[in-house]
Amino acid sequence: MTDKMTPAQRHYCMSRIHGKATKPELKVRQWLWRHGYRYRLNVKSVPGKPDIVMRKYRTAIFVNGCFWHGHEGCDKFKMPQTNVSFWEHKISRNRERDQQNYQVLHDNGWQVIVVWECQLVPKRIEETMLRIELLLNEHFLALHQPKVVPYDFEKDTGFSMAAEEITYSRKLP
Ligand SMILES: [Zn+2]
Repeated sequence: MTDKMTPAQRHYCMSRIHGKATKPELKVRQWLWRHGYRYRLNVKSVPGKPDIVMRKYRTAIFVNGCFWHGHEGCDKFKMPQTNVSFWEHKISRNRERDQQNYQVLHDNGWQVIVVWECQLVPKRIEETMLRIELLLNEHFLALHQPKVVPYDFEKDTGFSMAAEEITYSRKLP
């Protein structure tokens, strides 16, 4: 199958084989690092081996190549004209595996963020990363929300009495 690959596809394959970070993944890491976010890479204990793991935010980030992960409706995702069934099978299998990984993480309380290669081109990277930053912080706040039991004023008929009692028992300075 090797001879059917374009240079870009072959490069991607080799980078996966050697476990090296792909270029889009590096862009995400560099942006996060520059903005003070700390992360871990390829953490085996986290299901689906996300590209970037941010424990503090309980967030897993996947940086997906548009071709290999089959980015629907994307310019970078065009099915090769040769070996069509091979590629269709391969990419649909990748997609299924991705969905399973996301689901397992989600079920374990992780936020899953999927970033596509095409969202990291110079024109779009800042907007993409700001959106990711927002998701990280929103999730962080949700995780650290103080546990407040909502108080139902409407059902509490003794409320005004209690308030009056407190007022009268206080001594003014
Ligand atoms: Zn894309």
